[in-house]
Amino acid sequence: MTSLPIRPAPHTGPAAGEVIVDWFAGAARDLPWRRPGVDAWAVLVSEVMLQQTPVARVEPVWREWLARWPRPSALAAASPADVIRAWGKLGYPRRALRLREAAAAIAERHGDVVPSAVPELEALPGIGTYTARAVACFGHGQRQPVVDTNVRRVVARLVHGRAEAGTARAADLDDVAVLAPVDEQRAVRFSVAIMELGALVCVAGTPRCGTCPVRDRCAWRLAGSPAHDGPARRVQKFAGTDRQVRGRLLDVLRAAPEPVDAAALEPAWDDAVQRSRCLDSLLADGLVEQTEDGLFRLPA
Ligand code: SF4
Repeated sequence: MTSLPIRPAPHTGPAAGEVIVDWFAGAARDLPWRRPGVDAWAVLVSEVMLQQTPVARVEPVWREWLARWPRPSALAAASPADVIRAWGKLGYPRRALRLREAAAAIAERHGDVVPSAVPELEALPGIGTYTARAVACFGHGQRQPVVDTNVRRVVARLVHGRAEAGTARAADLDDVAVLAPVDEQRAVRFSVAIMELGALVCVAGTPRCGTCPVRDRCAWRLAGSPAHDGPARRVQKFAGTDRQVRGRLLDVLRAAPEPVDAAALEPAWDDAVQRSRCLDSLLADGLVEQTEDGLFRLPA
């Protein structure tokens, strides 16, 4: 009788978290905020910029911000107009003002040093669950579950066998914490490694399972790669949205050395109703202000 080759069971061998850390050593992108010596302030700035903006657009702006405002107190002392101008085309410019507010709080409450405790980080303006843990982990070398959209997608597939992550849950943090290696330094590497896996391999849409380091133990693959059976993901459009109009209006004001009248904003967008609505929302958000004589400018 011929004996069958013994095949390892799917979950034998090093834990998935260890495998992902080893994969990261050879696959990681060389991003400036990941290099040795980058302090927690630089990490915080990068994390806020990266929340809704791709790496390639963030990198030059991040370098400019750190050169210009190397400490939180330096950013806190800048005018809102300077900060909005320096934010450039990163989008969602309220982040710029919130980052300036966070910088002021760090300078005032923490002696110009970015705190390392998650509750203190979460108490800063505009800093939520994700950013607080990312700064504690990447900026201060703490073991922390850091869960963004990419990580949730990897965990949904690898651990739960689902094609998509669905809505965020409090248990997401526990799911990721369980995967992290025991060794603290490797746990810190793991937090960035699983994000990278989600950004490069276990991507939205069709994952690149053929190059995935954990394909032999992925619950979704082992289940036969079942299709997503929940609601379809919404694809955010940009053209024609209020976001686009707000960006165009801000472009005009960024380029204007002096306050401008409403007529100067007309070329930014043809639809007067939408233009007016967007200008009102920029005023409400504190991204634009109106002078006593009715002109518009970035906030002084
Ligand atoms: S095998 Fe495919 S689905 Fe599973 S974790 Fe890797 S890339 Fe994602």
